Amino acid sequence: MMAGLALALVVLAPPGTPAPALERLQGRLERARAQLEAEHGPIGSADIEVQLAATTSDFAARSGRSRREAAAAAAGRLHLQPLAVLARLEDLDAVLRHELAHLLVESRHRRCPRATPRWLHEGLAGAVAGEPAPPLYGPDLEKAQIDRWLTSPPDEPVLRLAHQAARRAVDRAGSVALLLQRCP
Ligand SMILES: [Zn+2]
Repeated sequence: MMAGLALALVVLAPPGTPAPALERLQGRLERARAQLEAEHGPIGSADIEVQLAATTSDFAARSGRSRREAAAAAAGRLHLQPLAVLARLEDLDAVLRHELAHLLVESRHRRCPRATPRWLHEGLAGAVAGEPAPPLYGPDLEKAQIDRWLTSPPDEPVLRLAHQAARRAVDRAGSVALLLQRCP
């Protein structure tokens, strides 16, 4: 890829996906990407691949994530549930921004000797996506606890708590620009 050339965002869709629906999705992805990149710079150093799943089982198999998740970023690729599932989401744009933010974090920390801790990856993605840190009055979760709950949450509410705590932990850890730049 030549320097200065815009990197492509490629949607890999199952055969038979209606072209207008695909174009709308592509448009939303491009807008989400533009919002992130305006503030934080390029998401990655290669084309962004978005895999639209044919079925929920297909999504879970490709992403290695729970069938209940709407989208997942893994190994430089964004995985999305089928269009019919995405259509039921309350705020698809926020989901796309958040998952693209995970790709951005992954790409910035790619050359780091240590893997990015779960709480940092999750909290940074939220911060990059422009999600505010939910306030908390009193002591917050320990980072080790956040990591445990993010990795294997007993239920949805606990997973939500872990996300919120991760987002706050990033606010306490320093500036987003610095956390993206510096290896954990
Ligand atoms: Zn996330």
